[in-house]
Amino acid sequence: MSTYGFLVDLGLCISCSACEAACKTWNNVPTGRNVRWRRVIDQVLGVWPKVTTYGVSMACNHCADAPCVKACPSGALTVRTKDGIVLLDKTKCIGCRYCESVCPYGAPQYDATEKKMSKCTMCVDRIDAGKEPACVDTCPTGALQFGKLVDIDHEGVKQIPNFAEPSYTNPSIRFVPKEG
Ligand code: SF4
Ligand code: SF4
Repeated sequence: MSTYGFLVDLGLCISCSACEAACKTWNNVPTGRNVRWRRVIDQVLGVWPKVTTYGVSMACNHCADAPCVKACPSGALTVRTKDGIVLLDKTKCIGCRYCESVCPYGAPQYDATEKKMSKCTMCVDRIDAGKEPACVDTCPTGALQFGKLVDIDHEGVKQIPNFAEPSYTNPSIRFVPKEG
């Protein structure tokens, strides 16, 4: 299996939210802030006047030990064996929101109109066509990158402040911390 993952360079992100917009456009995610497969989360660390601010672009981390898959009572969430992508089959989702309650990253999104969950697919259709996810392809600064986890593993760290303890779910994401 060749697991894919995201690499987020916190020093390069300018919080423009182009990744959010690209995700919505490519995946037909409803407009507005209620359902956001990818979200840019503003972080503020330190005490004035020594304050560091940065944005963290987050989506589903396609965790190797995904609690959402275990919690789903209807079998709607599965792991694609060949690359570790966690997928949600809407036709099987019963809208119980159990996956939402166990995910430490806020990835599963409840669509109140459909009364079902939805979430990032890592743009599986694009990957199968040999392309990068739409968010990565659109990021104007290179803050958001994508690749085989074995290749990006040494490029960044597993944990940043205010981010869930990675040993809990083994998320397929690495971070290049912001300096200063
Ligand atoms: S980030 Fe959340 S929804 Fe995605 S695989 Fe991990 S636990 Fe599941
Ligand atoms: S597109 Fe890139 S720079 Fe813009 S918010 Fe997303 S990750 Fe940051």
